[in-house]
Amino acid sequence: MRLLDRLDRELGDGAGLVVILDYDGTLTPLVSSPGAAVLAPSVRATLARLAASERARLAILSGRGLADLRARVALDGVVYGGCYGLEIAGRRLRFRHPRARRSGVAATERALAAALRSVPGARLECKGLAVSLHYRRVVPSRRRAVREIAAQVLSRRPDLALIAGHLVFDFLPRVGWDKGTAARWMVSRMVRTLPARRAVIVYAGDDASDEMAFAALRGRALTIHVGARPTAAEYRVRGVRDVQTLLHRLASFVTA
Ligand SMILES: [Mg+2]
Repeated sequence: MRLLDRLDRELGDGAGLVVILDYDGTLTPLVSSPGAAVLAPSVRATLARLAASERARLAILSGRGLADLRARVALDGVVYGGCYGLEIAGRRLRFRHPRARRSGVAATERALAAALRSVPGARLECKGLAVSLHYRRVVPSRRRAVREIAAQVLSRRPDLALIAGHLVFDFLPRVGWDKGTAARWMVSRMVRTLPARRAVIVYAGDDASDEMAFAALRGRALTIHVGARPTAAEYRVRGVRDVQTLLHRLASFVTA
């Protein structure tokens, strides 16, 4: 793999390593229910090696809520970014976007709950600074109604943005903050804590929201798109298995 050759070359002279990873579809295969996206023990073991290395810093940046993400990965020494980086915690870092308010999100959740009463299968998930509308279990013939309700509720909330995922809509505060700005914030803080003077930055993700990070880190990081979509990332891997191979290689490098 061209990417592995480049990593071998760049890490060969003792450089530090900063790795930022998306969770769903990157570390775990996409599954029919978000609750079933469980991290494989072998992947957790590799992540643990990375997190424990003095030469490396590891962050996981997801649209999931911070508490949910942390519980799923369940490793110390990792920087966690929840709600697309609106909340960041771990390794003595702590960030919460100062203009992100729970109140607007809570009001939106109430409005969605009222409107969705007539749509069986729709489920709301409160993630603190964001609310998700899952419609995987809504029969296909009713999904248009879900999209219309989402658009209607959003049109009354200029303070909120909507991110469309895999059969889910995320409503979150519109504060000019996304995975790109969050990833840059993480990189600048994590690089400072490395002993090495030079750091190799790696970012991998499969979502449309990861494209913001690919663009924001251009020229600064090795960006990797997981999947076959058109992408702004510099490199591409086919799926979760390839990500595992890559992480394994990285962990071997920084723990050698
Ligand atoms: Mg993903």
